[in-house]
Amino acid sequence: MRSFDESKYHLGSLCKRGHNHENTGKSLRYSNGGTCIQCVMLWHEKNRGYQDGYYRKNREKLTIKKKEYRQKHPEACLARQREYVKNNYERIRARRKEYQAKNHEKLYAVGKLWRLNNPEKVAAIAKKSQRKCRDKINAWGRKHHSENRESDNRKEREYRATHRERVNKYQMEYYRQHHEKIRIQAKKLADKYCKELGENYVKNQIQHQSGLLFEDMTPELVELKRIQLRANRASRAYKKGRAICQTC
Ligand SMILES: [Zn+2]
Repeated sequence: MRSFDESKYHLGSLCKRGHNHENTGKSLRYSNGGTCIQCVMLWHEKNRGYQDGYYRKNREKLTIKKKEYRQKHPEACLARQREYVKNNYERIRARRKEYQAKNHEKLYAVGKLWRLNNPEKVAAIAKKSQRKCRDKINAWGRKHHSENRESDNRKEREYRATHRERVNKYQMEYYRQHHEKIRIQAKKLADKYCKELGENYVKNQIQHQSGLLFEDMTPELVELKRIQLRANRASRAYKKGRAICQTC
């Protein structure tokens, strides 16, 4: 005799239709309720669609009942749902993918409409995810830039060259909005370079006096000019009896 799940079925007395289970002289019955399995299958065979019809007729009543059950036993429902998802994960995923592929346009349209109607929510979600991943994003950007400095700079130059008008417009707008801040920063930087006698500052001084181009200036020339500037400053300070000029 073939084995059966003893937690669900048992061999009971022969049913009224005489469903003899593998010549045991007994019927295989559900442990829960004791009905003969063959009889149940027969009933379903004859009444195909009955349950669908029943469901259709009593949809509202059944929905309420289900809801009540879910509210009464939330943990059990959740556990069962989890169990189902765990056991059928691949099937669920495949079905979802299939549905998404079939209804791509519809889903896209629904999503778009939602995004249009909920701009604050969209912005909030984006902000949240950005905040959550800020360190990651920044780190990635820095790493990428340090690895691709050359090509990044080239791309930016190219962009500026091909979008000159847009860049100019943007810069003008930016300057208009932040000119006070920019002026202060520029002054600070100029003071810093002046004080430190930085490379470009010295080169600017040379160009100013001689008209020489930056690329024609040798490091020795720059260094000589630096020494000269330093000497001039010292002598001016000495004459005026005050500290070395900070701004020239
Ligand atoms: Zn039976």
